[in-house]
Amino acid sequence: MTQTIPVIEKILSANDKLAQENLARIDAAGVFAINIMASPGAGKTSLIEQTVRALAGKYRVGMVNGDIATSLDADRAAAAGAAAVQINTGGNCHLDAVQLRSALDQLDLENLDLLIVENIGNLICPAEFRLGTHKNVIVASIPEGDDKPHKYPSMYRGADVLVLNKIDLLPYVPFRMDFFSQGVAALNPGLTQFNLSCTTGEGLDAWLGWLEGRVRK
Ligand code: MG
Ligand code: ZN
Repeated sequence: MTQTIPVIEKILSANDKLAQENLARIDAAGVFAINIMASPGAGKTSLIEQTVRALAGKYRVGMVNGDIATSLDADRAAAAGAAAVQINTGGNCHLDAVQLRSALDQLDLENLDLLIVENIGNLICPAEFRLGTHKNVIVASIPEGDDKPHKYPSMYRGADVLVLNKIDLLPYVPFRMDFFSQGVAALNPGLTQFNLSCTTGEGLDAWLGWLEGRVRK
């Protein structure tokens, strides 16, 4: 009888092992690291840009950007004051622990306080691949609609923090906050959530406060 080998499980457990090694390196350097995940256009890069701009004077911030083809987002983070490393995944739809390891090799980790990883814009497989960061941050946004937690449960289940971006658009877009919140609560009760707008700056202070509370100087 032929035995089926669960290949995906093997890939994931190899990835988890590397993720643990990444986390050990990050911890040894005294860095706090977050993995930012979202669909394309939710505002990952805008959030990173605002965050780096606000914190770069106080902390040394590194940024790893995963993108399929360009370095546009890493360039924005660098312009805001981060030490930025670009990973072009060549079409791959998520970052994995191997890719983060190669990015860590290019960063001066000992001279960083905060490391922000921008994952590929995708609400599906990035949730399955641990990278070795301390916290998973998911960014949702008002124009995407209120059904995202209902449609992408594993992403919401694995999140440590939820940022709901573009709240300045609430008056112009149909978005049932209670429906969205019910979806989140069913999957991840008590999930820390920040409602904010990277455009107007409303709500950013609470997010920055959360982050600063975790960064060792
Ligand atoms: Mg981006
Ligand atoms: Zn993928």
